[in-house]
Amino acid sequence: MKLVLIGAPAAGKGTQARKIIAKYQLAYISTGDMLREEVAKGTDLGLKAKDIMASGGLVSDELIIAIVKERIKADDCKNGFILDGFPRTVVQAQKLDELIGSIDKAIYINVPDEVMLERITGRLTCPKCGASYHKVSIPPKQEGICDVCGSELTQRKDDTLEAGKARLATFHQQSEPLVDYYKEQGHLFEVNGNKDADSIFADIAKELGE
Ligand SMILES: [Zn+2]
Repeated sequence: MKLVLIGAPAAGKGTQARKIIAKYQLAYISTGDMLREEVAKGTDLGLKAKDIMASGGLVSDELIIAIVKERIKADDCKNGFILDGFPRTVVQAQKLDELIGSIDKAIYINVPDEVMLERITGRLTCPKCGASYHKVSIPPKQEGICDVCGSELTQRKDDTLEAGKARLATFHQQSEPLVDYYKEQGHLFEVNGNKDADSIFADIAKELGE
């Protein structure tokens, strides 16, 4: 099974991806994670990507495609895979089709913007131990303090309302044509992401088959 996961920041993609790979024995391919790994390892690819990202640019389609092409040759992809963070644009989706034939399903987790903004702006993380909280839905026992290690919680720089709005605008601009592309192919499955993770997953599993 070859799947693509589409959803705005804070739509709950990571949570659903974990559930999907566990149930269907698929490889999880996050191009963002892979790029960060390459950068950390200091490979040629990583150095190239680092320069581009440092200058605020987007990593080229060719570079991403090259990474994906190598990755899906790995043993753990024999049963299939789920792509997260790629493709982001129609051009990338076309290149992916050239590479693998066609995907089986693009799962689009749709969450209203105002709900996502609430999730993004309420996120708190512990800089020391990495624990994460939410001002409203998962508050720490003591305001602003980590339950685990007692450190002062911080907010990621890009988790402000303004930055969140900008990220959502970018998402819509890039991904709406992508959603249409998969819809035309008959491969789109849109799931309501404005409910709890287990209910969302139940809808996805129904679509993919038990
Ligand atoms: Zn902590």
